Amino acid sequence: MNSSSTTEPVSPHADATTPATSPQAVIPAGDFGEWMRAITASLRGDVGNDVPCGTCVGCCSSFWPIALRRTDAAVIPLIPIEHLIDPPNAPSGLRYMGYEADGTCPMLKAERCTVYDLRPQTCRDFDCRLFTAAGLSSAGADKALINARIAAWQFSYATDDDRATHEAIKSAATFILGPARALTSIRVPSSPIAIAGLAFKAHRVFKTDQYRERASSDVWADMISAARAFDEALHPDSAPTTADRPT
Ligand code: SF4
Ligand code: SF4
Repeated sequence: MNSSSTTEPVSPHADATTPATSPQAVIPAGDFGEWMRAITASLRGDVGNDVPCGTCVGCCSSFWPIALRRTDAAVIPLIPIEHLIDPPNAPSGLRYMGYEADGTCPMLKAERCTVYDLRPQTCRDFDCRLFTAAGLSSAGADKALINARIAAWQFSYATDDDRATHEAIKSAATFILGPARALTSIRVPSSPIAIAGLAFKAHRVFKTDQYRERASSDVWADMISAARAFDEALHPDSAPTTADRPT
């Protein structure tokens, strides 16, 4: 999501400088290596991510509850009380903002975010290019808008290593979804965003084809180890991450 500051209520995604693009067209996702660095920083510590969303409001209108953290205290009073959700057994300070009957965020009016400057950290962090990187789409027919954007993104690659890294993320996602899934006692994520997140964090295990010759239990063990190493570098107050989005 676009994190530029503005005094006008604008869509989190409409920076007013990016022309509207049809869902079928290819949309430049930027340099893959730069994107890797940006999303790693975003996942590690509440710095947000600058997504060239243009006029897209896919993730503001896709039936997604938005996780609210303690650091979102300024925006919470602006959210209609009927859209504030306090799930039982939620971690301390974690609430959610629900959505309207048509799936849109209650803060989205005329395709513009009315709380742009105060929008939740979840909105600042979310980057649908994570799905693209993993070769996945978001689940459900109600995610058509976001899936159109996921399909349209196209990364560019400055180096062969960047291209290999992208292939490794996709291989990781394919492994997670494949037959090895049934052969492990590990609690494997099932939502596309959680699978994409794990694939991103553990992609180094898939950087070469050697994983194909190994026992799947060893591959799973290495993946979990890689994901843990990534998570251990997270800012202590940064949870939840984009993986908290449900699909
Ligand atoms: S779906 Fe992607 S491009 Fe569209 S608003 Fe959300 S993050 Fe931006
Ligand atoms: S608060 Fe709502 S409208 Fe604003 S960026 Fe977040 S999801 Fe979109």
